[in-house]
Amino acid sequence: MDLGIRGKRALVCASSRGLGLGCARALAEAGVDLVMNARGAEALEAAAEAIRGDFGVDVVTVAADVTTDEGRARILQAAQGVDILVNNAGGPPPGMWTDWEREDFIRALDANMLTPIALIKALVPDMMARGWGRVVNITSQSVKSPIAVLGLSNTARAGLTGYVAGTSRQVAGKGVVMNNLLPGIHATDRAVSLDKGVSEAQGITMEEARARRCASIPAGRYGTPEEFGAACAFLCSQYAGFIIGQNLLLDGGAMNSTL
Ligand code: NAD
Repeated sequence: MDLGIRGKRALVCASSRGLGLGCARALAEAGVDLVMNARGAEALEAAAEAIRGDFGVDVVTVAADVTTDEGRARILQAAQGVDILVNNAGGPPPGMWTDWEREDFIRALDANMLTPIALIKALVPDMMARGWGRVVNITSQSVKSPIAVLGLSNTARAGLTGYVAGTSRQVAGKGVVMNNLLPGIHATDRAVSLDKGVSEAQGITMEEARARRCASIPAGRYGTPEEFGAACAFLCSQYAGFIIGQNLLLDGGAMNSTL
């Protein structure tokens, strides 16, 4: 399917691995030139080189921590004038509600709420001026259905969701389409570290931990970065113009609800 975005330019944050990489590859397959970012230069360059070879699009890389002022400044320098913004960063660490202090919340809010808000504020005005833009924020299923050990994530991502709900409706009239993608369990490094947490907490092997987590998903498996990327590319496509401020859950049916 031609998504109608060939020749557009996208910034995909935190995209050397996992879900961000899935989004970058799906956009590149649709003919979108990329600015890719991650903290480690080596993995980032390898991912970019594979994309150039596979899809023939232009890829600029910026090795930087997107959650810092300095990192964001360098990323924004390379990303001026992009048509598409995919917000992503590593998730907060698991823990226990009784242990989190103010500083833990500030770190989580900085990374998973204030960083995407800063990038939206920096890049969306130009999209509005040109009358076309797409923003996809990678959040989490924890926005709809809280995960006990991920209270920092539940909190920060709910804040971003409220911001997007209001802001998306203020920019839609200028052709900017802003939505959130909510991953359930996907087969990435993050999933492996969460499997490890379950394995250690319950005193079971990694295989048992994975089997238990798979059993909680009606689809019977973890999602893949490729299918996550395809959903992202669709929300960035010409066909998504009437989808405003939505929260699309990609969780294999794990959350049991009617709506
Ligand atoms: P991952 O650990 O597999 O990949 C993270 C990517 O982000 C890597 O490329 C890493 O280099 C980059 N990155 C991390 N922190 C960064 C930073 N501060 N600046 C720049 N780059 C950074 O993670 P993932 O599984 O792809 O998850 C992506 C997001 O989705 C995370 O916020 C995660 O919490 C959330 N999420 C993931 C799942 C899942 O099952 N995989 C489920 C729910 C939510």
